[in-house]
Amino acid sequence: MIQIYRLTMRFPNGIEALRDVSFRVHEGEVAFIAGRSGSGKSTLLSLVTAELKPSDGQILVAGRNLAVLKADQRPILRRAIGRIWQEPRLLPDRSVRDNIAVPLEILGVTGERARQRVDQMLELVGMERHHAALPAWLSSLEQQRVALARAIVHEPSLVIADEPGGNLDPEGAMSIMQMLVDLKSRGITVAIAVRDRAIADKFSQRVVVLNKGFLIEDDGAEARPPSEA
Ligand code: ADP
Ligand code: MG
Repeated sequence: MIQIYRLTMRFPNGIEALRDVSFRVHEGEVAFIAGRSGSGKSTLLSLVTAELKPSDGQILVAGRNLAVLKADQRPILRRAIGRIWQEPRLLPDRSVRDNIAVPLEILGVTGERARQRVDQMLELVGMERHHAALPAWLSSLEQQRVALARAIVHEPSLVIADEPGGNLDPEGAMSIMQMLVDLKSRGITVAIAVRDRAIADKFSQRVVVLNKGFLIEDDGAEARPPSEA
């Protein structure tokens, strides 16, 4: 699903956020990307979603070589990806239901089909009773559960979560991460960035550790060039 080979990211200011990083995440796998603040986690995730272009190296996502991805193909890639961040990033003036529906709206899915799909998502994240609430009425964890529903409503094959528990208490953080890990049972590939690798270790999933832009640990290591390049 994600194949990264000898990836280097150098920003214009000279900072090397990633240095010669190689790893792959298989379809349906959950991978934690652990590392301290500034280790390159967000940069790595933004390269996977094609928000950034690498200085060097290769990235394949869902069979697409991002180095040669044309601008008009980017929306197709984005459609295959669900995103969740440290902040829920909900629209403050829209109800829970209408927030979850945003990706469907972008895809032109409306009416009864959209309503049913949003209902399924509300149930999945346990927010049925709050469907008409505004984000400000909800706890941080509830808001993050809505953000998770919005990330998967359009049935992406890959979910990218950047410190999704970063603004929650330890219990809340564990619960949102458990929900992300559980997406595996739906065949969704999940990449989750966390600062504390001890949290990642609790889930018995794949853990990749970054330090100052270097990949220093990978419990599923197998570095070789991408096969479909
Ligand atoms: P993390 O998410 O692990 O905290 P980041 O990927 O955000 O790490 O940052 C890695 C390094 O790259 C940091 O030194 C950061 O300051 C730098 N960096 C991130 N984004 C940019 C940018 N757009 N321009 C310049 N430097 C950046
Ligand atoms: Mg970050």
